[in-house]
Amino acid sequence: MVVGAGPAGAAAALEARRLRPGASVALVDKADFPRDKACGDGLGPHAVDELEALGAAGVLEGYPPIRGLRLRSPRGMEVAGDPARPNYVIPRSVLDARLVEAATAAGAQLRRASVRRLEQHDGLVTVDGELAARVVVGADGANSTIRRLLGVASNPDRALAIAVRGYAPAPAGRPEQLIAWVAEGWPAYVWSFPTGTGVANVGYGLLRSRFHGDRAELHRRLHDLLPWAEPDPASLRAHHLPFSSFRPPPGRGRVLLAGDAASLVNPLSGEGIYYALASGRLAARAALTEPDDPLAAYRRLLAKALGRHLRHAAVLARAIHAPALAEAGLGAAAGSPRLFDTLVELGLGQARITPRLLAALPRGLARARTATRGTGSGPAGRTR
Ligand SMILES: Cc1cc2nc3c(=O)[nH]c(=O)nc-3n(C[C@H](O)[C@H](O)[C@H](O)COP(=O)(O)OP(=O)(O)OC[C@H]3O[C@@H](n4cnc5c(N)ncnc54)[C@H](O)[C@@H]3O)c2cc1C
Repeated sequence: MVVGAGPAGAAAALEARRLRPGASVALVDKADFPRDKACGDGLGPHAVDELEALGAAGVLEGYPPIRGLRLRSPRGMEVAGDPARPNYVIPRSVLDARLVEAATAAGAQLRRASVRRLEQHDGLVTVDGELAARVVVGADGANSTIRRLLGVASNPDRALAIAVRGYAPAPAGRPEQLIAWVAEGWPAYVWSFPTGTGVANVGYGLLRSRFHGDRAELHRRLHDLLPWAEPDPASLRAHHLPFSSFRPPPGRGRVLLAGDAASLVNPLSGEGIYYALASGRLAARAALTEPDDPLAAYRRLLAKALGRHLRHAAVLARAIHAPALAEAGLGAAAGSPRLFDTLVELGLGQARITPRLLAALPRGLARARTATRGTGSGPAGRTR
C-alpha cells in the first residue's frame, strides 16, 4: 500500500506493478487529482531518467525542453549557459495527475482517504483500522502523517526551508531558467522557471530558521526581489521543504518513507521531485524483493543510489552560509563549461565535490570579485 500519490507515491505504485504485474497496490491520497502543489515545477535530467525507468516519460508531453540556465550571485555576478542536458518545467497540477493516471493504468487502485492511524502487528500494517498490507510506503509529503505516526522526528528549522511560488506571464525571448541567490534571508534564492508555454513559475525560498515573518512578508519579498514578474495573486502558494541535510531513518519495520516524507530534498537547490521519484521506485523494489525485511533492503538501495551525493550536497549547503563560496562557485563555473555542469549537477541530482571544483574556487572568487567590483553587479559569463 502507498500513502500519498505525489511523485514519490505514484513512482512506488508504478514500480510495484512494473516489477510484479499481479501485485495488489492501493494508492491512497486525501486529495482528488488533478490537485495543485506548491512547487517550482522544475524537472532536471535525473528526474527525466527516473520517469523513463518507470515507463512514464509520456507525462512530459506538451512541455518543451528548457535549454538555457542563468545563475546569479547575491552581488550580481551572472553565469549563463546551456547545461549538458535540458530541464523541463511542468505545472504540478498536470504532472502529478498524469503520474497518477499512469499508475492506475498500470493497475494500482486509487483510493481517496486522509490517513490518520497506523498499526504494525503479525507481519502486517493496518491503516485506519481497515486497510491492511505487508508493506506500506509513506509518501505523504513534507508534513507527513505517516512519519509522525512512526515517531520519526521532524526536521529542525535549520534543515527546513519555506518557499512561495506563483504563476506569471513568461519573459519574452528564448525560455531560460533563472536562479538568483539573494542576500535577503541568506542563504536564499528567487527563481523564474518558464514552462515553454507562455507561463513562468516564479518563487522565493529560504531556510525556516532565517524567516520570522508571515505569508504577506514572503509575498512582499518575492515581489521586491523579482520586480518584473507579476504573478497572479491567486496562484501564490507556500510550503515547506525538508532538506536532506537532516537524515531521519527512512522508515520503521514494514513502513518505508519516501520523497519529502523522508526529507529527500536537495539542500542546495530545493529540488525534490527527482529524489521523490527515485526513492518511491526504490521503496517499491525493496518491498517486493525483501518483504520480510524491506527496511534493510531500502536503506541499502538508497545509500547506493543517493548516499554520497546527498552527503556532498549537505557539506556544500553548510559551507554556502558564507556568501563568498557562492561567488567563488559561480566565478569558477563562468570560466569552464565543465565546472558549470558540475555545479548544476550538485543541485540537480548526482554530482560530487570534485578536486577540480575545489581547485577552481580561489580563481573563481577572484573572477567574481573583478566582475562585480565597484558597481555591485557584474557581466554575465557564458559557458557555452
Ligand atoms: C515552493 C516550492 C518550490 C519547489 N520547487 C521545486 C522544483 O522546482 N523542482 C523540484 O524538483 N522540487 C521542488 N520542490 C520540492 C518538491 O515540490 C517536493 O520535493 C515534491 O513534491 C516531493 O514529492 P512527494 O511525492 O514526496 O510529496 P508531495 O508531492 O507533497 O505529495 C504528497 C501527497 O500526499 C498526500 N497526503 C498528505 N497527507 C496525507 C494523508 N494523511 N493521507 C493521504 N494522503 C496524504 C497529499 O495530498 C499529496 O498528494 C519545491 C517545493 C516547494 C515548496
